[in-house]
Amino acid sequence: MSTSSMSSSLPVLTPEMAQSALPYLIDRPAMDEFRRIHKLDPMRIRRTRFALFQQYLEPTDALEFLQAPYADAARKAFRLSALSIEERHDSALDRSSKFVLATETGDKIETVLMRSAKRITACVSTQVGCQAGCSFCATARMGLRRQLSAAEIVEQVLVAARTARAEGARVRNIVFMGMGEPLHNEQNLHEAIAHLSSRDGCNFPIRRISVSTVGEPAAMIRLVDRFPGIQVALSLHSARPELRARLVPWTRQIDWEQLHLAVREVATRPLTFHHQGPIMIQHIMIAGINDTEEDADALIEYVRGFECIVNLIPFNAIAPIQAWQPTSREHRDWFAKRLRAAGVYTTVRYSMGSDVAAACGQLVQ
Ligand code: SF4
Repeated sequence: MSTSSMSSSLPVLTPEMAQSALPYLIDRPAMDEFRRIHKLDPMRIRRTRFALFQQYLEPTDALEFLQAPYADAARKAFRLSALSIEERHDSALDRSSKFVLATETGDKIETVLMRSAKRITACVSTQVGCQAGCSFCATARMGLRRQLSAAEIVEQVLVAARTARAEGARVRNIVFMGMGEPLHNEQNLHEAIAHLSSRDGCNFPIRRISVSTVGEPAAMIRLVDRFPGIQVALSLHSARPELRARLVPWTRQIDWEQLHLAVREVATRPLTFHHQGPIMIQHIMIAGINDTEEDADALIEYVRGFECIVNLIPFNAIAPIQAWQPTSREHRDWFAKRLRAAGVYTTVRYSMGSDVAAACGQLVQ
């Protein structure tokens, strides 16, 4: 199934909602229309959008910049938010927070705010559930329920950014690594990134946005074509095709060579200010499954001849799915050392929020 056919066959909102839907505040043409109808000074619109999308004010407060009576008119003409916060879980292990957010259709999705000494990162979902079926992932158990709209994707960033702002901080990075396969919701993903990165949207530097994918070759190329400087994070997890097909079943329908070609193509893109390069290869570490000498050597061979960063991610147990265990720290370090000895730029990620089920592969509703 092609990505586009998959996108069009899934609901974004129910038909009833779509019929009665008011535009969301991120809808630029609708806001322009509102300005024309009320003959508003464009400056007021710009100030309001700045308050909403760059100062991260709550919508009702930001609309005050339109001044009476237009603020009230806007409250009636637009839907102020696409999501509401149902739950917040703060990790006692690290400083991450997981938000369970409810959509207007009653679905629940998860967004994670990760705070490290160096940066604050928002980890955002793109689908309700996922059909990639990764065998180590809790979201996979949900199957795919529906695509998130661009407004629902952007609003997750706003929730994270408002939380950071309340702490006197700012979100520095956005990673599309939450629930769902971003490139299976390509149109809405592009629309969201366009809003997040545009000057009159969130004005977020594109080089600080990373899109994780199990690998849709053509969609990966379209992404870097449209958003030069963006980082693609390929969730490879095994450079051995048979094992990868077991770990990430969706990829059985992706031609191995075609994916490798796309990865190499992305790797040739200009680095802009990106110190990590335009492609990251992600490898979740599962003890005795994909962390052997053979796995390390296959990975070294896979990345030979192009610039990339390999990121080793601890596996987070999602009992009672299966009895797999994370690779021990010592063995992970050995694996990393072997890659580095072969000249592969390798990092070992500390997985955040595992005590509140906010870590990689643990998001589920
Ligand atoms: S790891 Fe990502 S792509 Fe794989 S099933 Fe989970 S959410 Fe989907």
